[in-house]
Amino acid sequence: MSLQTVFTKVLIWFDNSNVKVEDNVSEAIDWMRVIPFILMHLVCLLVFVVGWSPVALWVALASYLLRMFAITAFYHRYFSHKAFKTGRIAQFLFGVLGAAATQRGPIWWASHHRRHHVHSDKDKDIHSPRHGFLWSHMGWFLCLKNFSTQEYCVRDLVKYRELVLLDRFDSLVPIIYAFFMLFLGQYLEKAYPELHTNGSQMLIWGYFVSSIVLIHCTLFVNSLAHVLGTRRYETGDDSRNNWFIALFAMGEGWHNNHHHYPVSARQGFFWWEIDMSYYLLRLMSLFGLIWDLKPVPADRLYANLIQKADQQ
Ligand SMILES: [Zn+2]
Ligand SMILES: [Zn+2]
Repeated sequence: MSLQTVFTKVLIWFDNSNVKVEDNVSEAIDWMRVIPFILMHLVCLLVFVVGWSPVALWVALASYLLRMFAITAFYHRYFSHKAFKTGRIAQFLFGVLGAAATQRGPIWWASHHRRHHVHSDKDKDIHSPRHGFLWSHMGWFLCLKNFSTQEYCVRDLVKYRELVLLDRFDSLVPIIYAFFMLFLGQYLEKAYPELHTNGSQMLIWGYFVSSIVLIHCTLFVNSLAHVLGTRRYETGDDSRNNWFIALFAMGEGWHNNHHHYPVSARQGFFWWEIDMSYYLLRLMSLFGLIWDLKPVPADRLYANLIQKADQQ
């Protein structure tokens, strides 16, 4: 590999516009591109060096919940499915917060997710477990083929220049977020030494550990929630309702419900199906930050039910 090729590959880490269109055909893993993703996992091992403190764990949890909400409520329910409405500023701010979760920009995310719904568990599904569990969990986004955004299915989003810019430089957001964690730890070390934390501890727990758990919990919705769990609706795919994933992924585990009626703002269709993202969206709507939350129509709630004997 020539020095210039290496330089171009490194540039891609920071500016997605450097990806050449002709690259987007291979399903081989683009190792150079995924080095940062691998390093993020390895850096988590530094918890054994920096140690832990209660405040670092609490910040890691808050960092996880905040960004998971941005992913489930905004990247998924808003950008991908238009399940509610909001203003342009809120749209951008939650787009930035979602980008801090290190799952690329909202347009790329929505473009791939919309295609998943069109082809769910069929040949053209980009991340069906029928093509291999590891592929559905990680392989699909580590290859060149799915690196670029298919603009034809996100025409409604590419008209916002700020979102296009966010998508182009998506990796800068988590970098800034990680520095924020570092500075927060340094501040706490000086201002509140009794908390026994510091910059490196906060960086490792508040960004790296929190992000890796967040990324995999999101990915489990694509992989595990098409394999493990129960099916209420005949959806023509393998989607499952999985309470365990729903708990960790703030409501996203009610995936069979979601495939049955994707445009709903809620994914837990019944009161016992805990859906933290939906509760928070309801709260936001009370303050007028979002509006027009789409419900599940009564006739859809009990349509296409699978008879108990047919449950797989
Ligand atoms: Zn799915
Ligand atoms: Zn969806």
